[in-house]
Amino acid sequence: MPEMTTSSPVPRADDADSDRLRALLERAATGPDSQAWSDLWTELYHNGSLDVADPLVLHTLADLAEVNKADMAASALHLAGALLVQADQRYETRNLRHQYASEVARLLGAANRWRQVTADRNDYCHLLEAVLNLEGDIHWAEGLVWGVVSEEYELECPDPDGCASLWGIIGERGFFSAAEDYALSDDIETFPLHPADPRALEGLGRRLYDLALADGHEEVARALTYAFGEATCPECEQRLSVVGQVIAS
Ligand SMILES: [Zn+2]
Repeated sequence: MPEMTTSSPVPRADDADSDRLRALLERAATGPDSQAWSDLWTELYHNGSLDVADPLVLHTLADLAEVNKADMAASALHLAGALLVQADQRYETRNLRHQYASEVARLLGAANRWRQVTADRNDYCHLLEAVLNLEGDIHWAEGLVWGVVSEEYELECPDPDGCASLWGIIGERGFFSAAEDYALSDDIETFPLHPADPRALEGLGRRLYDLALADGHEEVARALTYAFGEATCPECEQRLSVVGQVIAS
């Protein structure tokens, strides 16, 4: 199991990397610079060529999340949450969270403030994702929120005989499940989804539903009842938990 910091056989980021990291964060901080954010995602998250444990990273992202610029804050919160979840999973420890506990607390505070003032549906969903990622209690917030934002979940039937995968559609096209190639045919069989009864929601579903309502996002709350509800497999016609399959994937 690789260690995250000094005991790693991999040399620590050299000066050139530190300079590059600093330059990218400065560009992200000085204004709308989508290329800088894209490069930060690539180098910190996707290929790890820059060191996520560098003190600049979470400190700067926390600063940007607290600036009164919604787009900048959203970008900082999204990246910070994703980096923390990735570190949890990659190293199977919460060392990064512990090392930067005060920055994580600042980021979480900012995410909760932005959540309450964000009107755009999808921006709001991504702030919920950031809150969950920053809290770090679950590692599948991206999958959960992805389905609400894209209005569809790609699911696998848990039947041991192995059915085909299916789509759960949640949104303007309706609320149903269908075989994977539903988009290719008009006459494909669909099965209505079974949303959770909001009064019966528990745990995370209960909490997110109540948050969305309290924040004025009724449509997100409704979508969450489907995410925490059940779909019918088009092949074997058994019912399966949508969120259960998000977790399993
Ligand atoms: Zn099935």
